[in-house]
Amino acid sequence: MAWFKREQAEIDASGEKRVKTEGLWVKCDQCRQIIWKKDLDQNLNVCPKCDRHFRIDARTRLAYLLDDGQYETEDGNLVSNDPLKFTDLKSYADRLKRAKTDTGLNDAIINARGKLNGKPIIVSAMEYSFIGGSMGAVVGETITRAIERATDEKIPLVIVSASGGARMMEGVVSLMQMAKISTALAQLDDARVPYICILTDPTTGGVTASFAMLGDVIMAEPRALIGFAGPRVIAETIRQPLPEGFQRSEFLLAHGQLDMIVERRDLKEMLRRVLAFFAAEPPRSR
Ligand SMILES: [Zn+2]
Repeated sequence: MAWFKREQAEIDASGEKRVKTEGLWVKCDQCRQIIWKKDLDQNLNVCPKCDRHFRIDARTRLAYLLDDGQYETEDGNLVSNDPLKFTDLKSYADRLKRAKTDTGLNDAIINARGKLNGKPIIVSAMEYSFIGGSMGAVVGETITRAIERATDEKIPLVIVSASGGARMMEGVVSLMQMAKISTALAQLDDARVPYICILTDPTTGGVTASFAMLGDVIMAEPRALIGFAGPRVIAETIRQPLPEGFQRSEFLLAHGQLDMIVERRDLKEMLRRVLAFFAAEPPRSR
């Protein structure tokens, strides 16, 4: 009886039909609407219907922030030497190789130099798709070099964070980066050069616990996840339900951890205003 049976071969489960439209449409994970990818791209990867800020890669970020999308990169030649020869499910060496192929970068960071409204600026942008934007020795050294350059040349510094925190495959070497970067930032502060943090989704762990929270001004994109430990770990430790919106930008702003939440389309203008504020001559005392 073939009445109630389907021949298996008749069902195309290969996903081929999906492949044809793949990349043209995106489903927003906040409002569940289907968005044309081109509309999303033109809207700086922000959902035109609900304002959800999609994650973007480091190169796109730099192109959005800097004049004419133009910038020079520095320090891109640094590579991890896998100090612990670490292996979990896969070897760290294999993970690095894979991440390099996928992103075309040597680690989870790009140091760039360009102009913002005609004025020179140094920007370090993190790449989340490189092992979760985690911070090992290379990210630490790359950021430190950007800070030292900003200090020497008295050029304002912006660091855009997108990170799961320290890179545990490098153990204590990754944790040391927190102290190293913080020390360099203290010197930048002594030199009275402005440092602006832009926190994007997600900014967690050792990155939050060091440079992402040390800026003269701390900005975040709307609804970004920002925290130290993950919400589940905290809930299990304190054995209490967490408040609504916990660890999102809006919650942090309400509790004094951020200076401002800035929509992606306004980030460049806000940076311009903040840097102009720092560059202004202080009023003379009479
Ligand atoms: Zn949406």
